[in-house]
Amino acid sequence: MIKTVTVIGLGNMGRGMAMTLHRAGFAVQGSDIATEARERLAAEGIATAAPEALAPSDAYLLSLPTSAQVREVLERCPGLLERAPAGSLIIDTSTGDPAESRQLAAKVAEAGLAWLDTPVSGGPSGAHSGQLGMLVGGETADLERARPLLEAMAARITHVGAAGSGHVVKLANNYLCAAHLLTTAEAVAMAQRAGVDPEACLNGLNSGSGRSAVSEVNFPRWILSGGFDSGFTMGLMRKDLRLAQQAARDLDLSGGLLEQVVEAWHDERHGLDDAEDFNRITARLLEAADRHAASLEEESPA
Ligand code: NAD
Repeated sequence: MIKTVTVIGLGNMGRGMAMTLHRAGFAVQGSDIATEARERLAAEGIATAAPEALAPSDAYLLSLPTSAQVREVLERCPGLLERAPAGSLIIDTSTGDPAESRQLAAKVAEAGLAWLDTPVSGGPSGAHSGQLGMLVGGETADLERARPLLEAMAARITHVGAAGSGHVVKLANNYLCAAHLLTTAEAVAMAQRAGVDPEACLNGLNSGSGRSAVSEVNFPRWILSGGFDSGFTMGLMRKDLRLAQQAARDLDLSGGLLEQVVEAWHDERHGLDDAEDFNRITARLLEAADRHAASLEEESPA
């Protein structure tokens, strides 16, 4: 039974997951290379330790930028392959590279540990409320052992296959989300130029087959509200798209629409740096439509 869990990576997602696990009664230890991230969690009354000073635990939950840092944590600092107790679970919630994950999963098994890739969606708010959506790649027996821990964090858990499969499906999902942001912004801008209010347009789309999580959630919550505070950055989405592109190329699947979507997200004409909210990718199209609507109003006789 899992009682103790170390959360490594206490950023937008890891911090929320650590707090949720703590509330659910697990003995949580948080760790991050950034001192401020550890201090923020310690201020919530949760134990923290620098990577080189971790106490042993039953499970290690990783929430790191990508597979390069997961490899670092496994092989070098703190070096879980050497330091984690035999049989403990490595649960990688980062959005990572599926090929790297399969290699790392094999090393984890060789070291006598167990691996699950469990990428998540639902953003920082889902992490804080324990309402994440979670994909799982790995062995069924390991998933069953981890299930009480995962259920504390996720409202939906979907086992999609062996190690690395969770990461493949996550990249497919984020490709679709990235494409939907572009296509939905184009659709809303087109309707606005034809004189339709964006909110009315979205109501129409959401009653039809063109709807998606982007039209139902992102547009009202973060785009039309002007909030742009989802907690998921341009940099993370660009990283996910490059991983998806690499995965497709490795499978001889280049030349599809994915290539164009990756290019559009890296187009400098958007003027968006990596720290900006990812929903800002819609801004250029929507602002042009706004300006067009305003100029028509000015031209029309009073
Ligand atoms: P973040 O940048 O806010 O946090 C990452 C944390 O990892 C930082 O605190 C950083 O200091 C720490 N870190 C980096 N290298 C480390 C190392 N070697 N050892 C220990 N700590 C290290 O990122 P985030 O938004 O929390 O995302 C984490 C992962 O979850 C990413 O893979 C991201 O793609 C994925 N994800 C994010 C969201 C979201 O909405 N933010 C949603 C779904 C999935």
